[in-house]
Amino acid sequence: MTAAACDRCGACCRTFPILVSIGDARREPRIESEALRIEEWQRSQEWEFRLHPLPFNRGCPFLSGDDSCSVYDTRPSVCRAFEAGSPECAEARRRIGLQPLLSQRPREADARAPAASSTS
Ligand code: SF4
Ligand code: SF4
Repeated sequence: MTAAACDRCGACCRTFPILVSIGDARREPRIESEALRIEEWQRSQEWEFRLHPLPFNRGCPFLSGDDSCSVYDTRPSVCRAFEAGSPECAEARRRIGLQPLLSQRPREADARAPAASSTS
């Protein structure tokens, strides 16, 4: 997996369903007041609250106007695990009309190279 520098576009906080646990809510108390508690029959150990999508919210309620995370130090585990430069990052960016991070794009030299290096 490519490690890439996140450019803080905020796409991952606006495009995918974001489900978080009761443990996350204990670490960040604002989750309890600003997220939606999911239906009891849908809950599991990992999923207790939903941060996105929420009615009338275009992204996670903790996404600030400058696309930074307002609860960064206590953000949910799913956000900690999300990797800049991953295929999911590229997909999130694609959904809001952004190119993949530079490190996700094929290098020009690779793009020009023949698919197989065998020559006849
Ligand atoms: S908690 Fe922070 S990092 Fe996680 S989705 Fe919300 S704004 Fe993004
Ligand atoms: S989509 Fe990728 S580049 Fe954009 S904020 Fe998320 S991790 Fe960073």
